[in-house]
Amino acid sequence: AKQLGRNRYQFYAPAMNMQALDRLTLESDLHRAIERNELFLMYQPQLSLSTGDVLGLEALVRWQNPSRGLVSPGQFIPIAENCGLIVPIGNWVLETACYQHARWVAQGLTTGTIAVNISAHQFQQTNFCERVSDVLSRTGLQPSLLELEVTEGVVMQGVEQVLYKLNALRELGVHLAIDDFGTGYSSLNYLKQFPLHRLKIDQSFTQQLLNDQQSVAITKAIIQMGHSLGLDVLAEGIETHDQAVHLQSLGCDAGQGFLYAKPLSVVDCEGYLRATP
Ligand code: C2E
Ligand code: CA
Ligand code: CA
Ligand code: CA
Repeated sequence: AKQLGRNRYQFYAPAMNMQALDRLTLESDLHRAIERNELFLMYQPQLSLSTGDVLGLEALVRWQNPSRGLVSPGQFIPIAENCGLIVPIGNWVLETACYQHARWVAQGLTTGTIAVNISAHQFQQTNFCERVSDVLSRTGLQPSLLELEVTEGVVMQGVEQVLYKLNALRELGVHLAIDDFGTGYSSLNYLKQFPLHRLKIDQSFTQQLLNDQQSVAITKAIIQMGHSLGLDVLAEGIETHDQAVHLQSLGCDAGQGFLYAKPLSVVDCEGYLRATP
């Protein structure tokens, strides 16, 4: 009977179809996620490695679905990016993060920045800069307190247009960071023309620092290059004190990771901000 069961399964629902079906239902569930209030944000602190001061928070999206449970962005963001849903989701994230941060600033809980992840598709929208400007005026958030995180892939594609857009964002006064730096392809020649504020060293380097000399060399090079371009450098995924000490000795400015705090709910983040100077 077992044998028969297995054959039947293979006949009616080959693995490929199951995956396609999964994807379709995930897409349609995700479609309703915004209107059903299933998305929420967590906030992860970013600290100065030299003073320990909180420099900012990164907004990270979560999806709580009644039947799926908690879905991580690693699972749904790539799908949302493919089917275009990333635009409404990204807009919701941008708006929600700015509103929340403006509230925290007004409450005197922070003077730091709020970092928001921007997907390729979202960044490529022709009205992206207007969106950002609109959200800033509606939320009353000071532009220099908003930091947009984009990956190398986003800014190295169609450089002419990207440069125009980055400059327009710069004019608005928002800050720009390159996320996951070192994992993609960057032209150094373009990098120097872009109006950036920060490079974020990918966590894969941070986590290999203590047992891999190549990661040390790459990290060191990124920090030196960032500094010579006048950029601030933040290391992601710091989990241990030894990693933090090593990064600081390499001249890294800022850090983010489980050593300091995991991504926090709104309530926990308020507690965290109250407890830190
Ligand atoms: P990311 O932007 O590189 O975000 C950092 C990820 O590393 C987060 O995962 C964070 O929870 C995790 N992390 C932070 N500190 C540590 C640490 O010390 N150790 C380890 N192992 N991990 C750490 P998360 O929240 O699951 O997000 C995964 C990715 O999903 C993000 O990577 C980003 O690419 C994407 N994402 C998250 N939220 C958004 C969003 O609102 N919009 C867009 N477009 N993408 C988002
Ligand atoms: Ca990020
Ligand atoms: Ca990252
Ligand atoms: Ca990443």
